[in-house]
Amino acid sequence: MATIDLKDISLSYGNNGTAHQALSGVNLSIEDGEFVSLIGPSGCGKSTIIDVLSGLKSPTYGSVLVDGVPVDGPGTDRGIVFQDYSLFPWMTTFENISFAIEHTKTTKDRKSIDEKAHSFLELVGLEKFKDTYPNNLSGGMRQRAAIARMFSIDPKVFIMDEPFGALDSLNRSNMQDLLLRLWSAGGQHKTVLFVTHDVDEALLLSDRIAVMSPSPGRIQEIIDVPFSRP
Ligand code: ADP
Ligand code: ADP
Repeated sequence: MATIDLKDISLSYGNNGTAHQALSGVNLSIEDGEFVSLIGPSGCGKSTIIDVLSGLKSPTYGSVLVDGVPVDGPGTDRGIVFQDYSLFPWMTTFENISFAIEHTKTTKDRKSIDEKAHSFLELVGLEKFKDTYPNNLSGGMRQRAAIARMFSIDPKVFIMDEPFGALDSLNRSNMQDLLLRLWSAGGQHKTVLFVTHDVDEALLLSDRIAVMSPSPGRIQEIIDVPFSRP
């Protein structure tokens, strides 16, 4: 079981005199195993919500709960992938993944850690690029590695901020397939919050779509997606 609850979140940037209210009364509850996309125009507060969920920013008002537990800073209960720069550039693909596994409690001994890292590299088709550094990978391959890393640490919830925004349409389509496969692997759907600009992508991937409006950012409506996935 894993849920995400954003309760009445408001956040202002800057000091009182010049404060800019980025979020105002954002409420969103994501159920266990639910895939929710967040869409909205540039500047409506999507990245701010990701920052609050990841524990990088504290809301001015309201609370964030993951699995019922208040978020208090970054933690491995949340797996996060950004549009880019999710990987450590000084580590190879393999090292990025094994390091992440090592620093979560899931697997302890060296051999199991390495085996797990290899199996995730294989799963996303990057075994041949295990010793390659992120800067020498294509954009699509970097995102595959970032997604492998996120799934390898078995977080409670999955948070993605425009992970495929920089990819061409063929790559994006491959990545969407890969994500859906990993999302439902083992017959147990994962709990996901996925930020995208692409309405078609949101319709393809999600159970529900939260639509944001700006100035200040809030959730305007939440749409149920009636179609079944491929
Ligand atoms: P989105 O991800 O939807 O494009 P953001 O969360 O980045 O939106 O930004 C929401 C609002 O907060 C915007 O008006 C933006 O200009 C403002 N904002 C973002 N970061 C800061 C900051 N560090 N200081 C002041 N204002 C900011
Ligand atoms: P892109 O993101 O550049 O559009 P992909 O990530 O889908 O492309 O990569 C497509 C294929 O191209 C890979 O499976 C790989 O075989 C090859 N490729 C891409 N980048 C490299 C690289 N840096 N070195 C070797 N082969 C590469």
